[in-house]
Amino acid sequence: MSRADRLTELLDREGLDLLLVTDLTNLRYLTGFTGTNGMAVVGREHRRFVTDFRYVEQAAAQVTEFDREEGPRDFVTALGGGWPEGAKRVGFEDHKVSIRQHARIREVMPAGIELVPAGALVEELRAVKEAQELDAIRAASQLADAALTTILERGVVGRPEREIALELEHEMRRQGADEPSFASIVASAERGARPHAGASGEPIPAGTLLTIDWGAKLDGYCSDCTRTFATGEVSDELAEIYALTQRAQQAALDAVAPGPTGAEVDRIARDIISAEGHGEHFGHGLGHGVGLEVHEGPTLSAQRGDDALVSGHVVTVEPGIYIPGVGGVRIEDLAFVTVDGHDVATGLSKDLQIIT
Ligand code: ZN
Ligand code: ZN
Repeated sequence: MSRADRLTELLDREGLDLLLVTDLTNLRYLTGFTGTNGMAVVGREHRRFVTDFRYVEQAAAQVTEFDREEGPRDFVTALGGGWPEGAKRVGFEDHKVSIRQHARIREVMPAGIELVPAGALVEELRAVKEAQELDAIRAASQLADAALTTILERGVVGRPEREIALELEHEMRRQGADEPSFASIVASAERGARPHAGASGEPIPAGTLLTIDWGAKLDGYCSDCTRTFATGEVSDELAEIYALTQRAQQAALDAVAPGPTGAEVDRIARDIISAEGHGEHFGHGLGHGVGLEVHEGPTLSAQRGDDALVSGHVVTVEPGIYIPGVGGVRIEDLAFVTVDGHDVATGLSKDLQIIT
């Protein structure tokens, strides 16, 4: 069954005749199209794809299961016609469409068709991966691991964080990545206490912790991993929060399997960290889904982790402890939920390693 066929099952559930797909990532997922201007309309017997003249040739090669059509550059205009008979309720991606775009779509569409907010239906499909998607994510993870290994071999202490981030991103591309999944985080010393620190122009000192959070995108699919290293002997306090984060990360990772909700897996890591008095230093959720986007469903967090894990989910497990003014630790793995447990895509050691 094609992805579009599976989408129509969700349309039935939602009482929709058709879905208008305008989000480019969702469009790629459904049609294979990787250009930057296009849309699709999907229904039970209806597979319509519209792009403008710049992408006609590309679409002919990529979009094989849809009726392709060339529209004007402002391709939304094409929605003035082409509707199948009896179309009444058409869903749109209200979490992605701007108010202006919505007004424009409403303006050109026939008055008799109702435009209904449909939410994240394609994202719901995307959360459960197919075998070929898992292969792509695994390959992206392996590439990212290899790139970091190369960078660490060159030495990092005394060099600016930003230079390491830049070299890492260059190395990922050199090894064949489309691009980095996101701007790499390279954060040492007290900067490591900020979960989304980025990379500063400051040199990486000896005798502290260094957190690197990086990922590669390969064939459109992302990887995501974090490791924290010691740049020499570190204080007892830093060594303790490292050991505690590692214990919490492993316990939560061990629980990744079909069954528990994202909130329940989050709770496992949070309880371990809170029991040692660091609950307030773990201020973010445990993890997130990864696929065509580096953050997608499902969510592993206390507030938004209602969904139970199922086979095919790809999730990160990334607890952290951040002590303002002192430093921080985060350890992140990328795990595939299997029928009876999980596989881990990220391969680098999680024992505290001293690097120079
Ligand atoms: Zn990450
Ligand atoms: Zn992550």
